[in-house]
Amino acid sequence: MPTVIVTGLPGVGKTTVLEALKGVSERGGLSISVVNFGTVMSEILRKRGMALDRDDIRRQDMALQREVQEEAAREISGMKGDGVLIVDTHMFVKTDSGFWPGLPINVLSKLSPSLLVLIEAPPEEIANRRRSDKSRRRDEASRALIEQELDWSRFLAAACSVMTGAPVKIISNEPGKHLEAAEELFGIISRMVR
Ligand code: AMP
Ligand code: MG
Repeated sequence: MPTVIVTGLPGVGKTTVLEALKGVSERGGLSISVVNFGTVMSEILRKRGMALDRDDIRRQDMALQREVQEEAAREISGMKGDGVLIVDTHMFVKTDSGFWPGLPINVLSKLSPSLLVLIEAPPEEIANRRRSDKSRRRDEASRALIEQELDWSRFLAAACSVMTGAPVKIISNEPGKHLEAAEELFGIISRMVR
């Protein structure tokens, strides 16, 4: 069954849309599982004796991040099975060294996705969510910066699309409409597996 990579800027509501997708898929009789790339990385780090907050991973040394990223991709590629595998991750990570790709070629080739999804939301909404999410230590950002990040995500999605041959679907997660976004995503995935 196919692998679908779902990405979105921090604060876009990606995890919420994917939670809703699980419910929609159950009702629609489609077997999907969602794996969060950051959680797999945290787990690998924890086993190495580094219990880091998930918002501290991007602040680590680049060599370590690169190594753990590759190991996570390897682990996730082993999770492919009978259902659709959704990978919750990022087109880029804002590291101390700059924008770093979440899906460089070595990662993409392990995951070999059939579809790339970008979840987007209005920049104001992303800024509000980053400010109000007390469970995370997200980077705050101005509207202009968030617009640049949205652009950067699309550029990287285009690059990933060329490298894999997978199409890019952009899904808008408007305020209060995460169910609609989940249903749209469900529609695309069910057409793919039919
Ligand atoms: P998230 O919970 O999706 O915000 O992810 C938490 C953290 O995991 C991110 O801030 C990154 O440090 C790391 N992460 C997630 N996906 C990737 C990826 N594809 N490549 C490298 N780091 C990642
Ligand atoms: Mg998330």
